Formats: sequence, structure tokens, C-alpha cells
Amino acid sequence: MDISSRLENIHRRVEAAAARAGRSPKSVRLVVVTKYRTVAQIEEAIRAGATDIGENRVQEAEQKLGSLSGRDIVLHLIGHLQSNKAKRAVALFDWIHSLDSIGMARRLNRLAEEQEKTQRVLVQVDLSGEETKSGLPAAEIFETLDEMSRLESLSLEGLMVLPSYLPDPEEVRPYFARLREMRDAARARGCVKGPLEELSMGMSHDFDVAIEEGATMIRIGTALFGERPSSQPNLGAGR
Ligand SMILES: *Cc1c(COP(=O)(O)O)cnc(C)c1O
Repeated sequence: MDISSRLENIHRRVEAAAARAGRSPKSVRLVVVTKYRTVAQIEEAIRAGATDIGENRVQEAEQKLGSLSGRDIVLHLIGHLQSNKAKRAVALFDWIHSLDSIGMARRLNRLAEEQEKTQRVLVQVDLSGEETKSGLPAAEIFETLDEMSRLESLSLEGLMVLPSYLPDPEEVRPYFARLREMRDAARARGCVKGPLEELSMGMSHDFDVAIEEGATMIRIGTALFGERPSSQPNLGAGR
């Protein structure tokens, strides 16, 4: 199957899952994850109708997406952000899904102010309690959101989760439900200034379940492009 048929297929699954949850499929934004993919593959996805592109690393994104600028494409950073890359991340990305500390929030706020933009961010939550996973510990989330609310150049758009890989999507469902409950609770407390509407959750193997649980952004790589190569493409050649 080519990218265009796979994209069609994904859209049909989005529609079916949204229908099961009584939601509009338009409330789900498909972020096409292009880490390790070539510029040619990204362009093919865009020609097939992709509007939102997600990358894990700032440098790889700069190298590949620079040539796309000028097009009407929304760029998302979905991987862990290092502080020495924060400035370039603010320059490049419309959305940062992986904000996971108040220190990074302050840094992004300062950089966004310097660059005269309002940076849209999602706060990544660690729901598994594993030290290896990045994300804010769930226990600290409300307090941290309160503090982040005071940062005027950030727009707190929602929450993101990257659960540990579990082969059965039904096993992931409780994590998705929990993220939705946290968002709803944070909004009910009323102290978060941003809209806090978004739930970035669900990947190729579990996005149907994520949508049933309220996902507004799904991050899809392999379901669109096939298995991922194990390293970044050589960007020197061919382009
Ligand atoms: C790679 C990645 C994805 C996409 O995963 P697939 O299983 O290929 O769909 C989504 N989110 C994050 C944070 C990723 O790193």
C-alpha cells in the first residue's frame, strides 16, 4: 500500500473510533510522525493530505523541515527537549508536546517573549511512574500547571502522554482515561489560564482506543510509513 491509501485507511479508523465515542472526527488532529523518514517521504505524505508534521529531535527537524517552510504545514515537537535546543525549538515549532518541567517552561517563556511569539505547549505527564520515562510526575501536575499559568508567552493547550509500550491497546486504555480525567480536573480547578483542551495521546497501534478516550491529537508514524528505519536518513545525499 502507498502512503495515500494508508492515510485514507487511518482517516477511516479515526472516523469509526470517533463515531463509537459520539465525537466528531474533526475534533481529532492527525500528527504525522516523520522521525527517521526522508524528505521525499514527508513530501509524499503532504501531497496525500497531511497537514501536521511531528518530529522528535530539533536538529533532525531543522535539517528536514527547513525545505518545507513557506508551506502551510503545522510543526510539532513530540520528543524530549534539551535545554540547549530550546531556542531553536521555539523558532521552529508551532506546538511543543513534551514540556516536562517548570524550569523548561520558564526558559520557553523567556525565549518566546524574545522571539515575539506565543508558544503553544502541552505538558507531558508521566503516568507510569517509571524513572526512565520523561514527563512530569502525575502528583505534581496541578501545582505545576498553576505556576506555568503565570508565564505569559506560553499558551497551555493541554496534556500529552507516552505510555510504555503494551502490545494490547486495551491495556493502554486506563492511561488514556487517566490523562483525560487529569485534564478535566485541572480545568475544573479553574486556575489554568490556557484553553487546556488538547489530549495528545495514541500512536499507530493504539490510536483507536485513544480517540475513544478523548484524544484530540494522535501521533502516527508506522501506520502511515511502515516500519521505521533504525537511524536517521543520510541527509547529505539526494537532496
Ligand atoms: C515515534 C513516536 C510516535 C509514533 O509512533 P508510531 O508507533 O510509529 O506511530 C508517537 N509519539 C512519539 C512521542 C514518538 O516518539
